[in-house]
Amino acid sequence: MSEAVPRVVIVGGGFGGLAAARAQRKTNAEVVLIDRQNHHLFQPLLYQVATSVLNPGQIASPIREILRKQRNTTVLLGEVTGVDVDRRCVFFDAVDRSGIAVEYDYLILATGASHSYFGHDEFAQSAPGLKSLADAVSIRNRVLLAFEEAETEEDPRLHRDLLTFVLVGAGPTGVEMAGALAELVSNALRSEFRRIDPTSARIILIDAGSRVLATFSEKLSAAARRRLEKLGVEVRLGHGVDHIDADGVVVGGERIASKTVIWTAGVAPSPAGTWLKAATDRAGRVRVQPDLTVTGHPEIFVLGDTASLDRDGHPLPGVAQVAIQQGRYAGTLIHRRIGRKPTPPPFRYFDKGNLAVVGKGFAVLQSGRVGLSGFLAWMAWAAVHLEFLAQSSLRVSVFVQWVWTYLTGQRGSRLIVNHRGSATDDPRTPLVSQHRSMRVR
Ligand SMILES: Cc1cc2nc3c(=O)[nH]c(=O)nc-3n(C[C@H](O)[C@H](O)[C@H](O)COP(=O)(O)OP(=O)(O)OC[C@H]3O[C@@H](n4cnc5c(N)ncnc54)[C@H](O)[C@@H]3O)c2cc1C
Repeated sequence: MSEAVPRVVIVGGGFGGLAAARAQRKTNAEVVLIDRQNHHLFQPLLYQVATSVLNPGQIASPIREILRKQRNTTVLLGEVTGVDVDRRCVFFDAVDRSGIAVEYDYLILATGASHSYFGHDEFAQSAPGLKSLADAVSIRNRVLLAFEEAETEEDPRLHRDLLTFVLVGAGPTGVEMAGALAELVSNALRSEFRRIDPTSARIILIDAGSRVLATFSEKLSAAARRRLEKLGVEVRLGHGVDHIDADGVVVGGERIASKTVIWTAGVAPSPAGTWLKAATDRAGRVRVQPDLTVTGHPEIFVLGDTASLDRDGHPLPGVAQVAIQQGRYAGTLIHRRIGRKPTPPPFRYFDKGNLAVVGKGFAVLQSGRVGLSGFLAWMAWAAVHLEFLAQSSLRVSVFVQWVWTYLTGQRGSRLIVNHRGSATDDPRTPLVSQHRSMRVR
């Protein structure tokens, strides 16, 4: 380690990276946090932006602002492209320059995950996934545009395709999206169109597995399914999608015509394993030691969705709590090493339980063997999500919006952004010829 104040480079300002940075606020070190986005994103509420409940600015905050009082920490906007473990340096591309090298004494990689189309990357064109704010706004545009297109479409046979929304993957994201879409059509949009009936929209949730929310108990997943069906969602299980194109999906040999397909299935880790040339698990996540370091490199930590660590023979799940607790652990361990204090025992994950919301006023909660569904679980879901938003201003804003939406059924943000320039945003083939006449009542 260099004689000067050691430098800790953190790549990623998500749940893990931010927790690691905060844990080193009093460390006698120069902490450098690099992220390709200027904001920390609260991914669990992305579906609420995609379904018009919240604005993008209500679930994300500039990383620079969050860490503004942390004097030992510098935030850099840039995309990391590689790591030289022998020279101990990270390479990144900044806004105006590429290949910038930053040396480190300690390195924390917390670069999260991206979509996986299970070897069918061509599906991405017709079925966008939900991972970033841009994805959420793009999906919101697509959903709202589908209703606008249907309202101007003369041919009623085409209304059905336009108003069929298919979600592929019945994990928490798919279930939460499906419930929120169902609420959107039955409440907010219900009385606003004159030529179409928004409540005739079909919302279809597809999964190859035998139940929704497969990581929850059978009882809770059955409760979630019943709730979805009560909201009007068609749940189709037991068959994965064989094909997706601009006209819909093929499932178990059946074609479902749809102009809006959303991918809520697999995730793939970031390429950190390739940068480090380190051992990875089958999913590509970096295998880490019980102290979250990479074998042979006590100075390199990998966290959150990018890391693979077993507990009782099973890998820890890719959830926010794992990333936050690992971030705190790695930050504290480095703090203690630099301060030449005894280091903490190996990392242990404290599982606080899983939550998934299914429409207004209903959630499922699984904590160990305890399961709960209904309004109380929904209250717990709301409290937990408010608690973990990055800033108190966001907590207040989201709380007020939720109360308003709960009481009035109105959505916070129904703007179609970039409508004119949406050619790249929405690759769907227009169904309506520009020169056809339209009957307006
Ligand atoms: C739609 C959705 C819903 C979810 N819902 C829940 C939920 O309800 N509950 C729950 O517990 N978990 C949920 N999760 C999972 C949870 O968000 C993740 O487990 C968590 O974000 C992982 O934290 P992380 O720090 O590992 O990665 P992230 O939070 O993803 O942060 C990674 C950061 O690294 C940055 N980055 C990536 N690559 C680079 C690079 N090359 N250079 C520079 N910066 C880079 C990214 O910009 C990002 O800021 C959800 C995820 C999604 C996508």
